[in-house]
Amino acid sequence: MPSVVATAAAPHLRVSATKSVDGEQQNPSGRAPPPASSVVDDHFFWTYTEEPHRSRRQAIIKAHPEVTKLCGPEPLTKYVVFGVVSLQMCCAYLLRNTSMLDWRFLATAYVIGATCNQNLFLAIHEISHNLAFRSPMANRLLAIFANLPIGLPYSAAFRPYHLTHHKSLGVTGLDTDLPTAVEAFFLDSLLGKTFFCTFQILFYAVRPMFIYSPPFTSIHLLNLVVQLSVDYALTKFCGGSLQPVCYFLMSSFLAGSLHPCAGHFIAEHYFFSQVNHGTESIQEQKRPKSSNDKPHPLDALPPPETYSYYGPLNILTYNVGLHNEHHDFPAIPWTRLHDLHRIASEFYEPLPCHHSWVWVIWTFILDKNVGMWCRVKRAQGGRVVGGGGGKNSGRSGESISAESAGPDEAEGWKESELQN
Ligand SMILES: [Zn+2]
Ligand SMILES: [Zn+2]
Repeated sequence: MPSVVATAAAPHLRVSATKSVDGEQQNPSGRAPPPASSVVDDHFFWTYTEEPHRSRRQAIIKAHPEVTKLCGPEPLTKYVVFGVVSLQMCCAYLLRNTSMLDWRFLATAYVIGATCNQNLFLAIHEISHNLAFRSPMANRLLAIFANLPIGLPYSAAFRPYHLTHHKSLGVTGLDTDLPTAVEAFFLDSLLGKTFFCTFQILFYAVRPMFIYSPPFTSIHLLNLVVQLSVDYALTKFCGGSLQPVCYFLMSSFLAGSLHPCAGHFIAEHYFFSQVNHGTESIQEQKRPKSSNDKPHPLDALPPPETYSYYGPLNILTYNVGLHNEHHDFPAIPWTRLHDLHRIASEFYEPLPCHHSWVWVIWTFILDKNVGMWCRVKRAQGGRVVGGGGGKNSGRSGESISAESAGPDEAEGWKESELQN
């Protein structure tokens, strides 16, 4: 049986694993050994416990029933999307005669382009939860519009994978936010983590294809046709110059590379342990300074699965930093997540949170105690959302509504999650 005990090759983690005795895991923290099918020596944090957000959602609703009033579409979203898409179109047009190697092209792509496209990634995230309009179809169409400066069709493919990430947090084979054991095995080093953070967007784009395939729907086709048509029309409009489309693609690449806003990808669900500053957990705060080398009773707690960030970059990123709040209530739009945090502050203030996304990237790369293995995984549970292959697949073939966030939808989060 592969061991989860931290070895010299694995990051030394504050939450210590317990050793197996006669095949039985002594398991106060809810951790479990990896499945026997692991292809490499596996150092992920395996657990059989339920994901934490559902139970916290129920506890918060019990304590503060008024939070359910925060659910529902945010009318502001469509105006923000229109403004950011327009800004990117203007930049692309203005750079039509500027070489990709020109510093003005690169600086614009990093400072404006990557920030705008990260903003659009997160607009598409928000819209995927049906939080821009009440109508599911209107949300799908706005997402296709928000996709335009990204350069490649992405919004339709993103949605089923992302909703599955919510319904199946940490479930191996379903949650495509998780690195695979093969990725962790090859990339858990200084160089490997630098490579991973630099080309992160490619991992997010390619990894899901190796995990499972949701059905190709008419929305995927529309996303593809609209995107390619606009890319073609923009090229024609700019006298055949490919620079505008290159600007879009460069912006998307940099948005998911070594960019401050890209820190949220790592900050959301990687487990940070034994870091001296930057992430304060309840364990860190309660740990007496004199007992640093002794085991602490709180060491037996399971590692946190989600971290929030409350800093200024949330302004540019639809408050995606409030990630515990978002996973607890995916039907609450970005503009009301701070209200949720305020109302239920006794639930959120004790949770560990990151103070800086730049620090998160820096520490992820340089600190041996953080790395590709620092994820909580579940070998069972969860289900695919939006049809497609995989275990526990529900209603297959649905492309639009079923797992929507709209509070009035019969099978949306409100019914199936909030009121359960
Ligand atoms: Zn998440
Ligand atoms: Zn989400």
